[in-house]
Amino acid sequence: MPGRQVYLDNSATTRPYPEVTRAVLEAMEEYYGNPSSLHKKGVEASRVLGHAREAVAASLGVGTGEIVFTGGGTEAINLALKGALPGRRGRHVITTAVEHPAVLNACEQLKAQGVEVTVLPVDGQGVLEPRQLQETLREDTYLVSVMYVNNEVGAVQPLEKIAAVLADFRQGGRKLLWHVDAVQAYGKLSVRPRELGVDLLSVSAHKVHGPKGVGALYVVPHTKLQPLLAGGGQEHGRRSGTENVSAIAGFGVAAEVVAREAQGEAGKIFSLKKKLVDGVLAAVPGAILNGPVCRQDNPCCAPQIANISFPGLRGEILLHSLEERGIYVSTGSACASRKNQGSHVLKAMGVTEELLEGAVRFSLSPMTTVEEIDYTVEQTAAVVQELYALI
Ligand code: PLP
Repeated sequence: MPGRQVYLDNSATTRPYPEVTRAVLEAMEEYYGNPSSLHKKGVEASRVLGHAREAVAASLGVGTGEIVFTGGGTEAINLALKGALPGRRGRHVITTAVEHPAVLNACEQLKAQGVEVTVLPVDGQGVLEPRQLQETLREDTYLVSVMYVNNEVGAVQPLEKIAAVLADFRQGGRKLLWHVDAVQAYGKLSVRPRELGVDLLSVSAHKVHGPKGVGALYVVPHTKLQPLLAGGGQEHGRRSGTENVSAIAGFGVAAEVVAREAQGEAGKIFSLKKKLVDGVLAAVPGAILNGPVCRQDNPCCAPQIANISFPGLRGEILLHSLEERGIYVSTGSACASRKNQGSHVLKAMGVTEELLEGAVRFSLSPMTTVEEIDYTVEQTAAVVQELYALI
């Protein structure tokens, strides 16, 4: 079908909702004042900021004073991980092997400051065994960072069990911060940091049809956090710099949709993902699903991400062949694919080199339709057959 566009790279970024675009534009045209200014223009901009903060806070079930707007998920994560260090007695951090590079590379920088980092392994589905965390916790552990949904394979970490392990550890009066990278879970699963006892939680607007370059860090009250930037003390002193009012306005609108619809949409997205996975695996002999078993009753399976390997093919070649037919997918995470490195996530799951090379990620959104999935299954089967005929 010439001219058809099927966007299945929603874990890299999403298409903004029209109402988000309108809010960004309106804020740029009308509410261009500096929110710190005392005059009317400042007050208007400050009000826009306040509305967005309420929407983001409501979408997470937290208070507005607990939301720090940042320049995206990466910055929120860096603020959580690096900001937590100064003044802590402990020097030990625990994370997992399948985290986003924002977490893993922030941990590398912490190491340079004398922090010891334990990177926990995952099983073949990409899931952490909470007992391993329990056994790794030490008196000097000051931070645990575990993601909610993995961006490459859609593995959902068992946060409730992790919460129980950490609550148990804290019982003896031990102080420890728990950070959750919820960037891929936000808008797809229920994200409720208070209910889990999470201290720090990162989200990003552009994964939920909001603008790029804006995100938020949830910070539990009274948490000591050293700001990354020195400046005018905006965002309750946690993130200096004049706020990106227009992007934050767009984030607010996207957050309203998250609060209103996210849970309802997850079932629909999962059905489409299942249709895609079943269709591709049936049509392409030898194709393998990487990550959690695709079943609605599998608590480790996120609704929107399917990572499939086509043995003997290179994911990149398949990606471009699908692109010629108007289908946009990715070979893993957008960050890793640019650097042409093998996926650290698939490696940590024990995926073989051949399957690693032939991996393609399909990621869905509430905008994805049945017709798009049917077309993608049909075209993937045809393209793979053509490519197999060439080797
Ligand atoms: N964490 C996860 C799990 C992600 O998927 C991403 C983006 O790909 C990020 C963090 C970084 O978010 P941002 O692109 O807003 O910096």
